[in-house]
Amino acid sequence: MTDPIVNDILSAATAVRMAGRVVGGPRLTVLDPATGEPFTEVGTGNGTDAATALDLARQALPIWAGTPRDARSAALRAIAADVEALAGEPEWPALITRETGKRLPESAAELALTVAYFRTMADLLDQQDAEQFSVVPGIAHRVTARPAGVAVVLTPWNFPVSIPARKVAPALAAGCPVLFKPSELAPLSSMVLSAVVERHVPVGVLSTVLGTPADVVDPWLADRSVGVVSFTGSTRVGRLVAATAAPRFLRTVLELGGCAPFLVLPDADPQAAAQTLLVAKYRNNGQSCIAANQILVAREVADEFTEAFVAATEKMVVGLPTDPATDLGPLAPAGDPARLAALVDEAVSRGARKVTSGTVPGKGHFAPATVLLDVPADSRVMTEEIFGPIAPLHVYDDLDDALALHHATGYGLAGYVCGADPDRADAVADRLRAGIVGINTGTPNTPWIPFGGLADSGLGYEGGRAGLAAFQTFLSVGAKAQG
Ligand code: NAD
Repeated sequence: MTDPIVNDILSAATAVRMAGRVVGGPRLTVLDPATGEPFTEVGTGNGTDAATALDLARQALPIWAGTPRDARSAALRAIAADVEALAGEPEWPALITRETGKRLPESAAELALTVAYFRTMADLLDQQDAEQFSVVPGIAHRVTARPAGVAVVLTPWNFPVSIPARKVAPALAAGCPVLFKPSELAPLSSMVLSAVVERHVPVGVLSTVLGTPADVVDPWLADRSVGVVSFTGSTRVGRLVAATAAPRFLRTVLELGGCAPFLVLPDADPQAAAQTLLVAKYRNNGQSCIAANQILVAREVADEFTEAFVAATEKMVVGLPTDPATDLGPLAPAGDPARLAALVDEAVSRGARKVTSGTVPGKGHFAPATVLLDVPADSRVMTEEIFGPIAPLHVYDDLDDALALHHATGYGLAGYVCGADPDRADAVADRLRAGIVGINTGTPNTPWIPFGGLADSGLGYEGGRAGLAAFQTFLSVGAKAQG
């Protein structure tokens, strides 16, 4: 039987849920990027709603923290099973596609990843035993993981379900109630996850309030019961969150923007490297934080690599994200086509040559896939986060020069290396300032490994044991036996 949850969320049309109740204040228009027209309006919350949610979370903290570990991991597995069942029905993937513009298979993949985050965190929680040490004669030491407190979760629009999941899953595993503020660009996709989670946890363990940062985020971050804020979004907003958290030393996990280098080494298979770049560049319509940004190609393979990548780009179909023939859908932020065109124009005005995928639909927030050749190394498109389907290529003669271009950006999130010799590729990966590197693959991430950025790309980790530990504190006890 079809689960009515997505239709319930669509008909309630609010981005505020607390204690199983939906609340809706001022209406916010959500656009359909494929048409540029309003898709729906959702109710948003205010300071009173944020305070109510905080109160519920405070009350839920001892209850959820005191819930036995196996009951918490069972709740995570039940959430995963619900998400998995919903992923097999058309409504939720269609909603994600409607709000974000990503193609339907990518929406389905996002839900599969969401399932994996909940299952992985349940497994990791099951495996996390209290550690016992007897390293000092006469003293028994133990280290026990405890919940860090209430967790505030702030997320971007580009993965409106799997990014909340990779924060909510470890927070719940750790025993932290969650206060969640989704993105205003894709709120309803996130609200479905909230409704699913609420089915499996006690009242107040998850509350969701979309509202202004001043009304919602700032009061949450100021409250002493909040022990961690996990933010994913732009470097600009990450700095604001860090500044708000700093005065009371609130723990922050900041997953921010990137400018990933894509290094093609002299011994790379140029055809295979071009295929890898298609994934690393155009996944999620080019709007992934780990998207390849600076494409640095060794002269030895540059001609064959460029020819293969340009030919593949020229064939790309830009169109409706619901059409199976589409390779590249529209971009959720209404201003992004103009923002991307300005980046291309700047590079072209300085001598870059442009090749594109051709026509884009007349309505909606579409941008063509674009390859830029002979790009000056200091053009904005090479040094800033593009966050869109533009691929600037730069040919290098000396690997050190290529690595210097990467290190000059200040970002440190992801990187890619293509090459035949595994030792050589590994050695290059070790020289990147990055939290994650794909060698001959455009998809290096999995929930089992830590994922996080350095420098301007933020701090802290999601995924793996480090992702669970982000929501935990550790109590170390040394006990001397008496008598
Ligand atoms: P954004 O920074 O504009 O918004 C992210 C979230 O922050 C939204 O929920 C927004 O409402 C909220 N926000 C805005 N102002 C705030 C404030 N003053 N205080 C607290 N919260 C505030 O980002 P976006 O446009 O939604 O997403 C794109 C960006 O996210 C890109 O830079 C991308 O690289 C980055 N991103 C990073 C990762 C990662 O894991 N490192 C993953 C996905 C996206």
